[in-house]
Amino acid sequence: MHNDPLSLDAIAKHVDAKAADYCGLSDRIWAAPELAFEEHRAVAEQVAMLEREGFRIAKNVGGMATAFVAEWGSGGPVVGILGEFDALPDLAQESGVTAHKPTQAGTPGHGCGHNLLGAGSALAAVALKDALEAEGIAGTVRYYGCPAEESGSGKTFMARAGLFDDLDAAFCWHPHVINEVSTTSSLACIQAYFRFRGRAAHAAASPELGRSALDAVELMNVGVNYMREHMPSDARVHYAVTNTGGDAPNVVQAYAESLYLVRSPFLPDAERLFERVKKIAEGAALMTETSVSVQITDATSNVVPNKALQEAMYENMKRLGPPAYDEQDYAFAKDLQQAAITEEDILASVKPYDISLRSKVLHDGVLSMPTREEVMMGTTDVGDVSWIVPTVQCHTACFAVGTPFHTWQLVTQGNLPAAHKGMVLAAKAMAATAADCLRNPDLIARAKAELKERTGGRAYRCPIPDDVTPDDLRAKAA
Ligand SMILES: [Zn+2]
Repeated sequence: MHNDPLSLDAIAKHVDAKAADYCGLSDRIWAAPELAFEEHRAVAEQVAMLEREGFRIAKNVGGMATAFVAEWGSGGPVVGILGEFDALPDLAQESGVTAHKPTQAGTPGHGCGHNLLGAGSALAAVALKDALEAEGIAGTVRYYGCPAEESGSGKTFMARAGLFDDLDAAFCWHPHVINEVSTTSSLACIQAYFRFRGRAAHAAASPELGRSALDAVELMNVGVNYMREHMPSDARVHYAVTNTGGDAPNVVQAYAESLYLVRSPFLPDAERLFERVKKIAEGAALMTETSVSVQITDATSNVVPNKALQEAMYENMKRLGPPAYDEQDYAFAKDLQQAAITEEDILASVKPYDISLRSKVLHDGVLSMPTREEVMMGTTDVGDVSWIVPTVQCHTACFAVGTPFHTWQLVTQGNLPAAHKGMVLAAKAMAATAADCLRNPDLIARAKAELKERTGGRAYRCPIPDDVTPDDLRAKAA
């Protein structure tokens, strides 16, 4: 199509026109890192810029002071771009150096690149708005300001509040060491306390009067460890004993508790596995004549991949090509690799994708789409969005190959030109694919049909119980 206002070229121009402003936004968020649920400055900065662009802002959504939705336009398909902006504790670090130099010891830093994530997604939303506005095209563009990704499941609470229900497609990205459309699923996760209550007694004088809650915790762990043989090999169960019932061996422990994480590549399977863990806990209580109460404190759904949207995004990424790094970008990335990134880090970072990338300094290509779908052995709150609306994510190379996540090595690159280039590429890929949805209703229809098929037609059910609030998780994160 000639002069198509929603073509990749047209969208890329709109992104380029505002790229510098949003790189500036990313740098300001990088320089003032805030932890989960505390992202007040980052939110104020983003809201101010989006308001100036004519977006309508709904603040304080999903029961979180730092969650917001910015919306522009009316009618047409509704497309949403997801942003994150929380930092991690104890990762303060100077920019552009090859040694560990905290700016202020013990303070947070952007160890996962969420400064770029939020600003890049906002840039995509604004560029798409500019394209629609210039030609008077119908359509609704939203930017979702999603707090507390690192700890707190911000998107899961936003999903529970119904904020994604009327979306036609959702887009997001994560800063990375490679350029690709993400095709992986992730693990659904259920986290719960098992609290056992028994009866205290003098452990020598009258042990027959005691009922040990600590015994119950131990027997539950033994039971779960026997269950491992008979559960799917891609499921995971981990536990921590969070209360042993005290330090005195001569007192029968009247109270003890453990915290369990149950994960599986498909939420309904995680729920079934969780029911089995509960039965084991009840068995442990029965054996010890104690009682047990179970409290789910956090949960997220698995990511439901969407091939229809992935293929559309891949076409755009392929045409855009990798970021145009210059000599300085390569020189710093190489220095950093030599000074502070191990051979093991490099292998770990490229192995899931393409082992031949181990010789790269910065990823100067775009990975082709794998034929097999893999499960990423981790959990993300994007999963909950992907159960409600067809969702697609890309990764773009903002950091040197081998850079481990959640480290100072990543923080030090977070506001450099190479990171900006990766961010701008992601904004183009997301905005162009969202534009594809706006001009091609068939793409949305195919994506929705695929979602229905992959979830077996099961409607989204928030895995966090209604009585757990963001404040409960916030209290724990603090
Ligand atoms: Zn992250």
